[in-house]
Amino acid sequence: MPDVRVMPDALASQVAAGEVVERPASVIKELVENSLDAGSSELRVESQRGGVALIKVTDDGCGMGRDDAVLSLERHATSKLREKEGLNAITTLGFRGEALPSIASVSRFRLITRTKDSVSGTAIMVEGGKLKEVSEAGCPPGTTVEVRDLFYNIPARRKFLRSESTEAAHVDYQVRLHALSSPGTRFIYRKDGRVSFDVPATDDRRVRIADLGGRQNLGNLREVSRLEYPGMAVSGYLGSPDAARKSRRGQYLFLNGRPVEDQVVWRALAEACRGSLPGDHHPAAWLWLEMDPLLVDVNVHPSKREVRFHRPGDLRALLLEAIGGVITGKASGGTSSSSLSGADPSSRKGAIGKKVSEYTYPRGEELGDELGENVDRTHPAGGEIHVREGEPDLAGPRTWKVEVQSELTAEGSSSKEPPFRVMGVLHGSYFILEGSDGLALLEGEAARERILFETFLTMMGKGAAESQGMLVPLLLDLESRDLDVVLRNVDNFRAAGMELEPFGSGTVQLRCIPSALGEEDARALLLDVVDELVHSAEGKSSRELTSEKFAAKLAKVGAKRGRCRENEGKALLKQLFECDQPYITPGGRPIMVEFALSELERKFGK
Ligand code: ADP
Ligand code: MG
Repeated sequence: MPDVRVMPDALASQVAAGEVVERPASVIKELVENSLDAGSSELRVESQRGGVALIKVTDDGCGMGRDDAVLSLERHATSKLREKEGLNAITTLGFRGEALPSIASVSRFRLITRTKDSVSGTAIMVEGGKLKEVSEAGCPPGTTVEVRDLFYNIPARRKFLRSESTEAAHVDYQVRLHALSSPGTRFIYRKDGRVSFDVPATDDRRVRIADLGGRQNLGNLREVSRLEYPGMAVSGYLGSPDAARKSRRGQYLFLNGRPVEDQVVWRALAEACRGSLPGDHHPAAWLWLEMDPLLVDVNVHPSKREVRFHRPGDLRALLLEAIGGVITGKASGGTSSSSLSGADPSSRKGAIGKKVSEYTYPRGEELGDELGENVDRTHPAGGEIHVREGEPDLAGPRTWKVEVQSELTAEGSSSKEPPFRVMGVLHGSYFILEGSDGLALLEGEAARERILFETFLTMMGKGAAESQGMLVPLLLDLESRDLDVVLRNVDNFRAAGMELEPFGSGTVQLRCIPSALGEEDARALLLDVVDELVHSAEGKSSRELTSEKFAAKLAKVGAKRGRCRENEGKALLKQLFECDQPYITPGGRPIMVEFALSELERKFGK
């Protein structure tokens, strides 16, 4: 392929300039794409310290001759795009000719490359955009790019980087994304000197999905059989409904081999799955779209992550038909795991995925000792209205707070015995209550949320989490960004009674779960908590959450489980009225709505 030339000016400006290098993961993306474009069958990616210290990508692709190598570092030098028509018919991953020079301008950069038929290779060193050295090098055919000390010469950009672990999580995700998109290429990924994964080339996408840690879902992968409309086709897999998540993090989309994000596709997928999943859940999905390059503009985003379809309506129809067939079971697809014999995930699930409630557990006293010190003890339940003695006198607000406090305390003590009686259940969601003054509807989920929240807060405050150990610890493969969130909140999890620890690359081990959530499927629970955490962590600093916020998240997830059953009503009501604030959820929603007798009478015209 090489024979690198500088683009004609007009074309160069047509390709909108943009920031290619945002963070280490974007460097990985550009380098890996170049290697894939070069027709590599084996790709080695290495990162150190989140990619900030070092990123190295080595391929066995076509390589470059000396002149091409030098030219490739000039702005808008590309071998992939020649004329204007070129932009409308791009089949390679790269085409802007911006990546190498951009990366080389913000790092200590080394390119070593050799074509198959030349006897020796070329090494080029660039520092902060300045060419330092071009020399002959002994090396195998292919290309290695080394990027050290990213942003060393632009402190402002460097400051923008997140913690090493967060950058590393993005890097991991990026490598996995490419590995998923190109199963035909062997990927070896080393992270801080250790092999994180080494996945052999395969022509079966399911094998690649499995190799990359989707194993626990794999037994139930449902095939989206290839469906073709004029100019476009889709194929892929959906995860099982119970692997569905509250976020879209389990969804991968590849357009002509390029990982992309696209709302048209996600919306169509959600639409196709409507009714088959709990309202706010998204199925795990791996979708490959093939599209006539004329029908899609991939040049709307500097890193080409977002695209613009020229016929979104057709695409939607295609997806609805292809995916709808899988959901309703009409499609020919529906692959079972049997063809994946060796990697059959269901056997593993059988061994460790048993319902937690099927075992008896030692109570986790031993946990208590390790707790406490790192737990924020200053939050009493319902802390927002609590006033501590001896606090500086802030006249106005304080008086107000004290009033609220005493009012509630008075109400609290008199309300330990619920002032209601359970009459029945409405639509599985509400308890119908009779009170001295009329009728009330109690939202079961909201009530559970309040009870769990206060339970967790108290436990976390006392450092005495009640948890159930699992006879067989549960192993969970987590996607790197999820893993990052989990690890950052390990202390919170522990304080709340969930002991999690890293267990090899990308896997955590869950050894116990809070008794208050005991009946549940631990895996689904943890994933939901992660989604909830990610929801709040994204865009904010990478600190772990306060125990109060964490308890609120955990309570929210825990409360979702189960419909309201009439025979639970009484106990639930009792627990609720033992809470400090029985009328409002931690998030501020009402827990019950009352209808006074006088109001009812008025409605009946009495
Ligand atoms: P683009 O990929 O948009 O063309 P880049 O700056 O990423 O621009 O790369 C410039 C050129 O360098 C590419 O067009 C390609 O010809 C060459 N090149 C870059 N990386 C490799 C590689 N790993 N193997 C072979 N050629 C490469
Ligand atoms: Mg490129």
